[in-house]
Amino acid sequence: MSVFPRISLKPEVTEHLRSVFLNKEVLAAVGLQEAECRFQKLLTCLSHPPSYTCVRASTHLAPLEDIRLSLEEELKKQKCSSSGEKLSIQIAQHPQIKDVLLLPVDGPRPVEQLSSEVVVGAQCGSAVLRGAHVFAPGIIASPKYMKAGDLVSVFSDLEGRCTRGATSFQGNKVFVGNGVAEMDRSAIFNAETPARGVGVRMVDPLFQSPSFDGVLPSMAFLQNLPSVVVGHVLGPQPGERILDMCAAPGGKTCHIAALMGDKGEVVALDRIRNKIDRICQNAQTLRLQSIKAYCFDSTQAVSVEPTEEYKGPPFPPESFDRVLLDAPCSGLGQRPNMASTWSLKEICSYPPLQRKLFQAAVRLLKKGGVLVYSTCTVTLAENEEQVAWALKTFPCLTLQPQEPHIGAEGMPGAGLSPEQLSILQRFSPELSWDSINTTAPLSCRADRDTIGFFIAKFQKT
Ligand code: SAM
Repeated sequence: MSVFPRISLKPEVTEHLRSVFLNKEVLAAVGLQEAECRFQKLLTCLSHPPSYTCVRASTHLAPLEDIRLSLEEELKKQKCSSSGEKLSIQIAQHPQIKDVLLLPVDGPRPVEQLSSEVVVGAQCGSAVLRGAHVFAPGIIASPKYMKAGDLVSVFSDLEGRCTRGATSFQGNKVFVGNGVAEMDRSAIFNAETPARGVGVRMVDPLFQSPSFDGVLPSMAFLQNLPSVVVGHVLGPQPGERILDMCAAPGGKTCHIAALMGDKGEVVALDRIRNKIDRICQNAQTLRLQSIKAYCFDSTQAVSVEPTEEYKGPPFPPESFDRVLLDAPCSGLGQRPNMASTWSLKEICSYPPLQRKLFQAAVRLLKKGGVLVYSTCTVTLAENEEQVAWALKTFPCLTLQPQEPHIGAEGMPGAGLSPEQLSILQRFSPELSWDSINTTAPLSCRADRDTIGFFIAKFQKT
């Protein structure tokens, strides 16, 4: 059910995306009316959260069923303490993916708006729609005399126009639910000691899904379903040496290490220093020791000088059995995303960087090794066009089928053959937006009602 307006984008970005979704090959395949309809549905579903929460279970530490039962117990407690109601949460296993648990999201729920308003940034608002509480740094405006314990309505500022410290805001905002303030206004906007921790505890959110804050941290890791699929498609084996080129915050790195039973070596690189700490924290929480994380620009990760002894990046060519390039991208598949202020220039800046990273990935991969390229965006230029470019530029690469393949095929428009498109994996929530019926079993809608995502698998011959 649609409760929010379509995602708000700059007009130039909307037009660009429209031309992608209505490209000649798509029009030839499905016709103008269907192509336009899919594009409009894409804009609608991007502003809405998926109807379930996906959790990757630490099956390297315990059997899936044990984790499922412990999680159900923990979440029942949480529901009791926050709302007073005894709600039981049915957690389902994914029928094909053996380390995935699915939890239904209840929403949109009928929630009455209150006169006391707290305004949060768009990113914080999106997190609330996926089950988070409001953390103090995300609060931009609050009532003048707000005290801890006050009941407030939370709104997301869609265009980033609200002034920090304001007492009210009349701009473009959407209601995301009601909560209880955990601190006074004076503590939230204290200039000397910036507030940390939960600022508003959500008690009546528009979309209700359990908060995972501190819940079985070593056993349950929140991850979008397509991101979990990436780890399985890469197919890491115990004892291998694997490179994750753009790794922070390390969700996929940790999954790779877990799939290897923590035996072997997973090298995680990211260009941003403080993000490396996140990778290390996640590895520690999930009790994984085979991960080595480095702050490094992966476009420079191939050593030019021969290195005798392995010390860390840069690495000699053909150092890795498998390489994951989960590329920096325009992120236009993320959900919920009600507004983006990005320009077309910003969106178009990604393909050249992705190609530089791809070149390094091919050089670092051993002969016979596997390279997986993925993005969380919906553009052709960052997905199918990159595949077409890669196949032309690197004759040593062949496109491979993926296991599991639970998403749709690649999108026409980049000159790839129907056979090539059929072994690409594109998660396209717009294709089944009408049939994403909340009464259908979770395991049926989970594969369709995801973020927009793309996966390609290559082998170096
Ligand atoms: N794979 C991550 C996960 O699953 O948790 C998400 C990766 S995110 C899509 C892309 C990452 O690429 C960002 O953390 C960004 O800092 C990093 N990045 C961007 N340019 C890079 C470069 N030249 N070298 C290494 N990392 C880079």
